[in-house]
Parts: sequence; C-alpha cells; structure tokens
Amino acid sequence: LFVCFEGGEGAGKSTQSRLLHDWLVERGETVLLTFEPGDTPVGKELRRIVLDPATGELSDRTEALLYAADKAEHVDHVVVPALARGEVVITDRYVDSTLAYQGAGRTLDVAEVEAVARWATGDLRPHLTVVLDLEPEAGLGRFDERDRIEGQSLEFHQRVRQGFLDLAAADPDHYVVLDARAAIDDIAAAIRERIEPMLER
Ligand code: C5P
Repeated sequence: LFVCFEGGEGAGKSTQSRLLHDWLVERGETVLLTFEPGDTPVGKELRRIVLDPATGELSDRTEALLYAADKAEHVDHVVVPALARGEVVITDRYVDSTLAYQGAGRTLDVAEVEAVARWATGDLRPHLTVVLDLEPEAGLGRFDERDRIEGQSLEFHQRVRQGFLDLAAADPDHYVVLDARAAIDDIAAAIRERIEPMLER
C-alpha cells in the first residue's frame, strides 16, 4: 500500500503522516515513513540546492528537473524496495507537489512537468493521496517559514493550493481532501477511516 500526503505549507502533513504511521504500526503493519524532497543521500544534496536561499534564482526548468531527480532516487532506492518487501509506504509529498509547485505555481506547462515526473518515478502511483487543504494565508502564518517561502507571492501559493484541489477533483477514487483547519484528531480519524478498507483488501 502506497499512501501520499500532499498540501501547502503548514497544513500538518508531517503530523498526520506520523499519526497514520503510528496507527498502522500498532495494527501490526510494517510501515516506511518517508518524504520528498531529500530522503536519500543524493536527494539530501538536491534538497539543499533547491531550498537554500544561497543557491540564488534557479531556472524554473532546472528546479523541476532537480525535483524530478530527487524523485527518481526516492522511488528507485526507497519506495519501490519497501513496497517490494510488502511494507506500507507513506510519503510526505510526491509527484503532486511537483505538479502543484513547479507546474501550477511556477506556471510551467503542467503536462510537460507531469511527463518528466512520471518518467522519473516510472509512473508509480499511490493508492491514495491525502490532500490537507488550507488557505495559504493560514498555512504561512502557522509556522515561521518565511525564510523558505520568501520571494513567493500569495498568488503563487494560491495556485499551488488550486493545483492540489484540481488533481483531487479529477480522480476522487484515489484522493481524499481534508480541511486542514479541523482538529488534529478528527483529521487523523478521517484518514484512518479511508485507509482501513484498503488494508483488508
Ligand atoms: O514538505 P517540506 O516542508 O519539507 O517542503 C519543503 C519546501 O519545498 C516547501 O516549502 C515547498 O515549497 C518546496 N517544494 C517545492 N516543490 C516540490 C516540493 C517541495 O517547491 N515539488
């Protein structure tokens, strides 16, 4: 079982992915909790390059390619081996983040960005993507992430949010969209409810 968490800044992806991990482990599953970008040795370097302000302005296409390279490392060296071992894999961000940030956000051609990301991941798709939806104003205020997001307008983050919602709306069988302003426990319960029948398959 392959589950992704997606959403904008401060939506609670890491909290919810951790809670889902813990619940699955309690149920006796072997679970790999991972994230993008940066959960491989090369990915760590790529993450530093794309997110370090010292890098300076990257071309939008360079950024998309670096994220794609991170995904290739992640899928080949982390996600696929764990799935092959029969583990549940939970990732905090995946292809949809690229479609939303590099596609919708940076206004690159989403179909082109998608083609690169699908190639990078061998078109491996999650069984379920959990979108934690939050208006950017709320998310950006929740943590002091201004260093990381400096230079990106509110409009950018609004496009990113809409990007996630559009992906979910186009494929409801493989998505659940939850209001990230709800109580942590309520969100976690809604996620468990959606995952439980998938485990019994
Ligand atoms: O999820 P996390 O907070 O670790 O993501 C780090 C940053 O990377 C986010 O602030 C997000 O803006 C950025 N990001 C991106 N494009 C992606 C994935 C992440 O711009 N495809």
